[in-house]
Amino acid sequence: MVYSGRFTVSTRGNDHMLDITGMVEQAILESGVVNGIATVFVVGSTAAITTIEYESGLEQDLKTVMERIAPRDAPYAHEARWRDDNGHSHIRASLLGPSLTVPIVSGRMTLGAWQQIVLIDFDTRPRTRTIHVQVLGE
Ligand code: ZN
Repeated sequence: MVYSGRFTVSTRGNDHMLDITGMVEQAILESGVVNGIATVFVVGSTAAITTIEYESGLEQDLKTVMERIAPRDAPYAHEARWRDDNGHSHIRASLLGPSLTVPIVSGRMTLGAWQQIVLIDFDTRPRTRTIHVQVLGE
């Protein structure tokens, strides 16, 4: 079967990281799927979904690394083209990607004990984000 669920979250932007594991678990529970896969996808080109050990040290480390890879104050053709301020947001989001697929075995995601599903909002302002959870299985 195929189940389509979704939920929204409010973010502060500026690399705000949210643990969305519980909300994804809830969608899988509602799907009734016991064995299959769940794809988690955020709508928008300045946010990303990945897994991480969700703790404040790594949240800071990821910000630091992203600032090295795509610095906020670097020149971006996107900003010159559109007169906006979020070239770094788009690049950071593209590098991590907007989605994640997780196997479901015996009704549970096969995540590690220290592996949470996180949404990171790289945009430069607070946003409301819609996350789709598409569950395939039986
Ligand atoms: Zn932009």
